[in-house]
Amino acid sequence: MADMDRSRISILGSTGSIGVNTLDVVAQLGGRDAFDIVAITGNSNVALLAEQARAFGARLAVTADEKQYAALKDALSGTGIEVAAGRAALVEAGQRPSDWVMAAIVGTAGLAPTVAAAERGADIALANKECLVSAGELFVNAVSDGGGKLIPVDSEHSAIFQSLEDDQRHAVERIVLTASGGPFRTFSREQMAGVTADVARAHPNWSMGLKISIGSASMFNKALEMIEAKHLFGVRPDQIEVIVHPQSVIHSMVGYTDGSVLAQLGCPDMRTAIGYALTYPDRPKLDVERLDFAKLARLDFEAPDEVRFPALRLAHTAMDRGGVQGAVMNAAEEIAFHAFCDKRIGFLQMADIAEQVMDEMVGYGTAITMDDVFAADTEARRRAAEAIAQKEMAA
Ligand code: NAD
Ligand code: MG
Repeated sequence: MADMDRSRISILGSTGSIGVNTLDVVAQLGGRDAFDIVAITGNSNVALLAEQARAFGARLAVTADEKQYAALKDALSGTGIEVAAGRAALVEAGQRPSDWVMAAIVGTAGLAPTVAAAERGADIALANKECLVSAGELFVNAVSDGGGKLIPVDSEHSAIFQSLEDDQRHAVERIVLTASGGPFRTFSREQMAGVTADVARAHPNWSMGLKISIGSASMFNKALEMIEAKHLFGVRPDQIEVIVHPQSVIHSMVGYTDGSVLAQLGCPDMRTAIGYALTYPDRPKLDVERLDFAKLARLDFEAPDEVRFPALRLAHTAMDRGGVQGAVMNAAEEIAFHAFCDKRIGFLQMADIAEQVMDEMVGYGTAITMDDVFAADTEARRRAAEAIAQKEMAA
């Protein structure tokens, strides 16, 4: 690892699905003997956070939840591991000098600490796609101005990144994002109307956090990923295609001007993309399942359906309108997602709320600074909450 100079690392969101997989990769590559774990962060699950901090010899452990400070302090007493809590402490975790930062907090909560890490020049392994959807070019510029690399972790974007040679970017014709179609791939709108979060979270191929699992069922996750691809790879919206591929074996593809299509394939296991982001441009040796093509036998493809999955249409709307519409779409949907999990609105109403708030906030302005992004985010959340309350009253 020494020649890569990514030995000092931080993991924002270490207790989540991506965070746990990241620590598994770190353990496979030598653990605390090979890496200096500068900071790890979590939210309410302080028992796991403390266990991780001890096992990996982290220097700083931060919980986003101030009420959990005492519990975390207690769990790590006598270890010499520094403990902190709250939003400012999360930003501080991003700021602590390290070579590589895994951005794996879920939602807009991840933006400020990730930007803090980007601004001081760390390489950013980006799982938190919401950073790019909300802040777009501002986020890309924060990383490049800081001098670090932006390395995608989202499986689709990692696949594209791996299929894209820097000196062939001019010859890229299209980006093909694969989508599993989620648990409701074959459902009618009527069938989707009555589903609960427990049903919607059961993804056919990937084991992931709650928000992204629900987002896979509504294909809102794919909508975020379209916008993520636009900013990561500098392509036009009309160069981004989505294809439903239920086996999730082809993780995404790049089509070139000569008709060639390059793809990256693998078993659905995030550790491959995480390991690549950690050792790029090298590849690590990882103990993950290998593809067995004979067992696989076939790969299927279907065109996506924007009528049953309106989130895909909203992604185009957001990209066409530009400005802060990405931040608005993301924030409104995050509020709608919580309302759906709390059984306050139905599954189909998540997209309705996002669309309504996006329409209300057309012409809300452009994002010149990060503060403009945060302002649009706050306003979209307020309006989404209002729209949800109105739907509840009408029901
Ligand atoms: P998760 O819910 O399993 O974990 C989220 C992490 O964020 C946890 O560590 C949690 O403690 C922390 N967190 C939650 N709320 C917080 C808050 N308000 N402030 C600070 N920290 C908070 O989520 P996940 O599935 O690991 O996803 C993390 C990110 O990675 C998301 O942006 C998701 O879209 C992206 N992603 C995940 C996968 C996957 O396979 N899970 C794949 C691609 C991209
Ligand atoms: Mg993905």
